[in-house]
Amino acid sequence: MIKAILFDLDGTLLDRETSLQQFITDQYERFTPALESIPQQDYISRFIELDSRGYVWKDKVYQSLLSEFSCKKLSWQDLLQDYETQFIYFCVPFPHLHTTLEILKSTGYLLGIITNGRETFQQRTIQGLKIERYFEVILISETEGVRKPEPEIFSRALQKLGVKAQESVFIGDHPTVDVLAAKNLGMKAIWKRDLNWPEPVEADAIIDDFSILPTIIQHLP
Ligand SMILES: [Mg+2]
Repeated sequence: MIKAILFDLDGTLLDRETSLQQFITDQYERFTPALESIPQQDYISRFIELDSRGYVWKDKVYQSLLSEFSCKKLSWQDLLQDYETQFIYFCVPFPHLHTTLEILKSTGYLLGIITNGRETFQQRTIQGLKIERYFEVILISETEGVRKPEPEIFSRALQKLGVKAQESVFIGDHPTVDVLAAKNLGMKAIWKRDLNWPEPVEADAIIDDFSILPTIIQHLP
């Protein structure tokens, strides 16, 4: 019987592509006098490329961006600080996230998040999504000193929740870092479909929308 449901954050709970697109468009507009040597569309598309789906931290992204466009009117630190403090206002959840978390919580499941990333930034993202109240545990790799796909971060979350691996399910968008890693530990795993990644054969189920999640969890093999 499933007792605990654990989620990845970026690309699973957070619609990161939409959030990032909205943030970077707004950032350009707010910094326009200093950035005017860069066409807006180039600024946006190059930022998104350099970000590499979140796998490159923004210190490097902004350094490359400003040097590629020979922009000297402001520093990468200014833009990085803006990203760190303003991204929270652009966090977009995937559809039906809140209603689904509400259902899962009131059904009695224990809920948790395991995310790779920086403590302050990931906490702000969770605040931006307004979902903190649903989760018993939130493990962020920077603070834990261990990151997915290492089994330690999953087993630590299970231990905190007091559940066995077989009593838990992990939901994530990454085929190996989320789905395969959770399966290797004996957890059930659901792939939140993301067409940028290949379909993981190990997944117990696949979802495109959160509204189906409570039913899927009840019928896991
Ligand atoms: Mg992810």
